[in-house]
Amino acid sequence: MFPQQPIWSNTRVDLLQRCSRAFVLRYGVAQLSQNHPKGQALSEIFQIQTPWILLHQTIRETVLEYVEDYANGTIWSTGLLSTKFKHGFTQLIRKRNQLIKQIMETGLISQPGFQCTQVEAHLVEMGTKLCIGLIHHPEFVRILEVGTIKRLEPTDSIHQQNVRIYNAPDMMHFNNDQQFLIKIHPFQQRHKTELELQASLLQLYGDEKTTIVFFHLNKRAWSCRKIVPNPTQKNQAIGIVEQDIKHMMNAFYSVGKHNDLSKVPLADSYRSCMHCNVQSLCPTRHGYERAKAEQRALMCQKGTSVAEYI
Ligand code: SF4
Repeated sequence: MFPQQPIWSNTRVDLLQRCSRAFVLRYGVAQLSQNHPKGQALSEIFQIQTPWILLHQTIRETVLEYVEDYANGTIWSTGLLSTKFKHGFTQLIRKRNQLIKQIMETGLISQPGFQCTQVEAHLVEMGTKLCIGLIHHPEFVRILEVGTIKRLEPTDSIHQQNVRIYNAPDMMHFNNDQQFLIKIHPFQQRHKTELELQASLLQLYGDEKTTIVFFHLNKRAWSCRKIVPNPTQKNQAIGIVEQDIKHMMNAFYSVGKHNDLSKVPLADSYRSCMHCNVQSLCPTRHGYERAKAEQRALMCQKGTSVAEYI
């Protein structure tokens, strides 16, 4: 059930904060049983994203592709950007639909909480506008026009005190002897404290002089924020990572020796279940309050076996 090396990423922490049960299913049970067809399907269920998230993923991908071409001397027209965005978004929606059909064919899910969808024109229009807004942002233009740029992949990780951290910046920008690490946050406006934590972890990919540059959306307009974390902030960030890893380990420990899931807590709020990919496999499918009450009773009896999930 435990990963060979503790792994920290925003995705893991977000899921753990929403629900320990979902976290254990995704990063414990699904990974443990990935060679089993149903275990594989469980893993795939977690890959299904909402069209809204896919829209934001496409914004980031399109902008990063634009940057790569710009650095190689090719500057896209607005028409090309619009075509690229539509193509990227359509591909992601198509893959999502295929994945849903594939999972349904396994028979693992009888009442899916997700459905196949079509590409909606207004989302394409909105996404294209947001891409244009970002590449025309004065600070973004300055980054493109001076110095050099290198793109990083989300799979680029670093090793810190026995923890593998996945928090790669989207790009590295070098200007004279200065280094900037750039992160695009298209999903939502981040709180100041959260940005400082992110900046401190991002700086692990550079050195103590590296400036972190965030582009984030605020009411559909791009804002730019630059942060050079100080040593105290960096130490605090490492401390938070250590705490998060402890919580992850506790969630895995709660499974118990006999792969008993009864002691793995369900979400604290039914709101977390509303958009959960595995609700149709979870006791909460028969009602959140009832499932919570049953879990309290089951804590001292025989629990749910992992085998029931795969
Ligand atoms: S349905 Fe709710 S309790 Fe069940 S795994 Fe999902 S978030 Fe957790």
